[in-house]
This record gives sequence, structure tokens and C-alpha cells, in this order.
Amino acid sequence: MKRTFFITTIVSALLVFLVGYSLVTTAQTLASNPILLVVNDAASNKFGRYYGEILRAEGLNSYDVMTTGAMSASTLAQYRVVILAETTLTPSQAADFSTYVTGGGYLIAMRPDSKVKGLFGLGARQNTQSDGYLRLNGSGPSAGLPKVTLQIHGAIDQYSTAADAVSLAQLYTDATNITIYPAVVQDVTGHSTAFNFDLATNIILMRQGNPANANLDIDNDGVTRSIELFQGVGGAAPWVDLNKVPIPQADEQQRFFARLILQAINANQPTPQMWYFPDTNKTMMVLTGDAHANPAEWYQNEVNILDTYNAKMTFYMSITSAFTETNLQNYRANGFEFGIHPTAYHPDPNYAPYNILTLSDGYRVYTDWFATAFPSIPESRTVRNHQLAWSGWTDAAELAIAKGLEMDANFYNWGPWLQKPDTTWAHGYITGSGQPMKFIKADGTILPYYQQLTELVDEQMYPVNPGYLSENLSDSAAIAVSKQMIDASEAGNYAALMTQLHVDYVNETGVWINGTLGYAQLKNIPMWNADHWLSFTKTRHDANYTNFNWDSSKRVLKFNMEAISTAGVNLSTMLSPSFRGSPLISVSVDGLFVTYTTQTINGVEVVFVTTPAGNHSFIAVYQTSDLPNAPPNRNYYTALPLTLTWNPVTSAMQYEVQVALNNNFVLPLSFSTIVPRTSLSATITSLPGDTYYWRVRAQDIRGVWGAWSTVDKFTLQVQ
Ligand SMILES: [Zn+2]
Repeated sequence: MKRTFFITTIVSALLVFLVGYSLVTTAQTLASNPILLVVNDAASNKFGRYYGEILRAEGLNSYDVMTTGAMSASTLAQYRVVILAETTLTPSQAADFSTYVTGGGYLIAMRPDSKVKGLFGLGARQNTQSDGYLRLNGSGPSAGLPKVTLQIHGAIDQYSTAADAVSLAQLYTDATNITIYPAVVQDVTGHSTAFNFDLATNIILMRQGNPANANLDIDNDGVTRSIELFQGVGGAAPWVDLNKVPIPQADEQQRFFARLILQAINANQPTPQMWYFPDTNKTMMVLTGDAHANPAEWYQNEVNILDTYNAKMTFYMSITSAFTETNLQNYRANGFEFGIHPTAYHPDPNYAPYNILTLSDGYRVYTDWFATAFPSIPESRTVRNHQLAWSGWTDAAELAIAKGLEMDANFYNWGPWLQKPDTTWAHGYITGSGQPMKFIKADGTILPYYQQLTELVDEQMYPVNPGYLSENLSDSAAIAVSKQMIDASEAGNYAALMTQLHVDYVNETGVWINGTLGYAQLKNIPMWNADHWLSFTKTRHDANYTNFNWDSSKRVLKFNMEAISTAGVNLSTMLSPSFRGSPLISVSVDGLFVTYTTQTINGVEVVFVTTPAGNHSFIAVYQTSDLPNAPPNRNYYTALPLTLTWNPVTSAMQYEVQVALNNNFVLPLSFSTIVPRTSLSATITSLPGDTYYWRVRAQDIRGVWGAWSTVDKFTLQVQ
């Protein structure tokens, strides 16, 4: 006869892990996600949904999106913070936002409709300024962020403000001349914040350049390039202020926006944020190099240098016969990747397969060539075009997407336009960003194609490209540029630094490559190929934090991470090291205590918890005044071994479990054990059929035992 054990848990109501949410005075069921983005797809500003991309770039992967037509006062009230994209509002929508804020909600609005301007302490609109600068005030949400003027592209409203409104960032007409108007303003309660420009528009225009320059050959060199989008027409000032290139201006404004959101959520509960990079890295080196039909030994020369530093690279190849499929297989086995380097113009009327007259031709010819030449080799999903060829504002991105490409390396610090009037050169971020983000079309369509700036470019530093002006640096000066970029990233720019290390120029640039990679190795900075970086970028972007559960009395935050399990990708979750003065005591992932480190990010201390990419449950426990006593979870098992589990207890070092036939636990006990803090369970392998009682208690670091938990009862029924 088969023996089956049934365990029935009798005590239940007392054991339910009570969760109480309240939004200020009104008891309200909260949505699982703390952030709501409200957009109006019919608004004249088409970039509203890009705030979702900004949230993901900043690791706030826990938001819902709703249209103005679908929202109501009661749905708004379910969120800790609401972001309102630029749109006009109906009177009833305006009333809903007022109700939300007066009910205790936190609202961040872009160029708010005049019907709600009073919420933000905004008075009369005096004027609208086209382009300008802002300067963060350096306190509150901008503490630790650069206190220098940063560019704004797009329309900026000049508002008079209430006497008690707080300017979080002041508006400037240019890099040095301040106005009397705020660029970002908060009402006196701190619940309502208005950007008097559209942050999304500004970020997009910084990253993707001037749409008016699409398809122009500004420098008249016969090639339409990505960088044309950043140059001034007819000697006019470049789109990006060359004095600001060293600052990741777009990233810094996003960080400020993320801080505002976190500050609003943290008023009521702690919340996780995903770090930009794997583990605790502050910088990533992403190695790429173009190759123009070079002999195979030239590739090997470069690989020899890379191997010295265990650095991996993606090669973008022109059509070449230097390699056999076996060659590439061997390189790939050692972590190198190969992709295409399509050209936009290579007339070959006598050989139709290679007759390229447009970038579209180039993508088609190169994709076909790679598939034919190396049928067993997966082509890199990242790409750089020959001569940085580009079309339209985002047309080139759509051509790449049509060929299965997912990351673009065409935005690139190169060209004589980067020389300033004082003859020094701008180094840094022409797109204002060291972070990968998706392209967006002018009509608001978000493209599944990541833009990653190439910051460190060999042909910009060395005069290797005949006919083009370079900085003509010595080896030591070129290495100094790399070191300065790495140091600035480590200190707060937090950038993925992509390189251009042409196979063609290794003889001329080898000292610089060695100096750059050697310095990165010294700083323990990962040196990845672009495809590894793309895998990380996609996994991180698509991950979500879900099922938030904040127990304000026990100060326990539970949430899940939902992420694609991706080989070679770790994701780091950041948590506040304290909540309202209570220190973080323990973090469990999937039921086990984990170690964590405290890092200082832009002047703010945060705890980093690293997990392999995948689905995980997190429990973060903040200290409460007593040694608390978590009730056991209920478990249902049908056979031995029987595992009793419980919730983690604040500051527990170990746990004691008792099982008895009586609920007073009069000796002898039927089972008892002590388990370490890293375990939240006890397993019973043999026990006669009967009805039992069990309880658990925790011991803290001082050796003091906490009170016993609620007693739970179960029955082993033998059939
Ligand atoms: Zn090329």
C-alpha cells in the first residue's frame, strides 16, 4: 500500500503576511508598480511614450502606461508617482490631477497645461524660449549631480512663479547667462514638479541630432554621415556645445529625473532600481574595430594585443576573402565576434552583386555576402557603416532593423568640427550619452534598435586617414585621453566606452591600444565585445520589477525581478541602505540571504545586490525597533521529506525550530533543529503520522533569542 502524508495547516488568519498600503490619509489599494506614465497619443508632442525608455535606461523598470483618455482620479491614486507627458488636458482630466496631488500623490509633468499650472507654483507664462540651458541647484534630487549648465533643445516656457515655489534647475539663455525663470520647478509641498521644457524631446534631440540636418552633407566631403546631424550649417555653432561634450548631458538630466521619481516613491516605501552595468562596474569598455579587406595576419596582430588583456572585440568587416569559415569559428570560440561594415556607395556595374549605390544596397549586399561566405557563423547583431554613412534622421536605423541588426555604432566622436576655436579638441559624448538607448522616429515610433556612441576613436587621435584632419596626438597624449575618459566615467559619468580600433591601423595605434586596455585592466573594467554588450543591454532593458509588497509596520519590502535568463549577464539591483533612518538589515534572494556591497553613486550611498539575469524574488528587511518575529509561511506537502519554511527575521543570525505533539511544547519534542541565517527552512525526513505543532524563533548577533512565532499546526495523515 502506498503511504501518503497530508499536512493541513489549521492556523491561517494569524499567519497571513499582512500588507498595509496607504497613500497619506486615504486607504487605497496600490497598483503593483509604483510609477504611472500618462500619455496622450493624440498630443502634438509625439514623444510621450519615450518616457518609458528613459525609465528603463535609469533602471526604474516598474511602471505602467495609461492614456489620458483611460485614466481617472481613482486609477491615478493607485500610484506613488505619476509622470504626465506633454499634452493639453480637459477640465475633468485637470481636476483628476488636482485630486491626485491634494490626496498625497506625487506628480511630475512636462510643460503642464495651464489648467494645472497652479499645482506647480507656476504663475503667468511670460514667453517661450527656443533652446537654452539649465543648471541644477545641487541640492535635493540633484545633490551629487554636475552643477554646471546643461543644454536644452526644444521649446522652454518662461513662467513667473509663486513666492514659495522652489526652482530645482534655473533656466539660462546660453551657457553663461541666467534668466529669472526656472527650468524645473517644484511647489512648496514637494508633491508637484514641472519641467518647463519637454525632457524627452531634449534627450532625443541630443542623442539623435538635429532633424533639420537629415540627408545633408554639411562638410561637403561627398558622404552623408551620422555626425552630419551634429554639425552647424555654414559654419554655425554645432548642435552640441563643444564645451559640454565632456559631460554626458542627456544622461545627467535623466539621472536628475530618476532621482525625482525615487524621492517621491521613497517618501512612502523603499524601491529597487537597476544599475546601468553588471556587478558593481562603473564603466564598461565595449571594443569594436572596422576592417577594410585586411590580410588575416593583421587581425591576428590585433587579437594578440587584445589577448594580453583578455579583452574581446567585435570586428566589422568589409567584403574580404582573407578569412575562411574555420578562421572565424576559431576566433568566435575565443570570444570575438564578426559583423558587417556596409558601405553606402561602391559602384561596380561590371559585377552586379557588389554594385552599391545606396545604404539600402549596402545592407543588402553585405548581409548576403556574410551569409554566403560564412554560413555557419552568426553575423553580429551590431553594426558600423563604412564612413559612418547615414540616411534621414532615423531611416538608416530602419534599414538596419530590416536586416536583423539591433545595435548601432555609427554615432562617433570624429571630425574636424570637434576642434574648438582655441584649437583644443572636444572629448566625451557628442550625443550627451554613454548609455545605450533605442532610437525613436519623428512620429513617435520607438525603434527596436539601440544607439551606442563610440567615444574612443583611433582615427580621431592619429593621422591614419589620409585627407582628414586628426588631433595628431602622440601615443602618450592619446593614452591620456583614454585615461581621462575612464577616470571621468568611474567618478560619475558612468559610461559604456565603445572603441574604434581599426584592424587597418594596429601598427600605428598599438601603443595607444595597449595603454588604453592596460589602464582598463588596472581598474578591473570589463572589456566586452559589442554583442555581449547588446545581450546585456537587451536583458536589462526588458527586465521588470514586479509584485511590490511593502509592509510598513515590519519594514519589509518584497518584489520580484522578471528577466530573461541570459548566459554571461548579471543584473545589479540597487536599494536604499536605509528607510526613514532604519538601516537595511538583510536582503534575501529566492529565500536565501545574500551578500551586498554599498557603493556611492553620484554622491548617494546605495546597496548593490547582484543576481544572474533571470526570475528572482527579493526580500529586503529594514531594522525595526524590536527583534521581530516573523510568522511561518504556510506550506502544503504531500509526502516526506517535509520542509517547514518561514519569512526572514530582521538581523537574524540563526533560527531554532521546534515540533511537538502539544502546543505548549512540553518535552519531549518530536523534532528540533537550529539552522543558520542563510537558511529559511528546516527539513524533517522521518516523523510518525500524527497531529503536530511547530514554531520558530530567531537569534540576533548578540546571541539574544527573539520571541517564538505564532504556533502552527499540521497533520501527517497516513493512508
Ligand atoms: Zn570603413
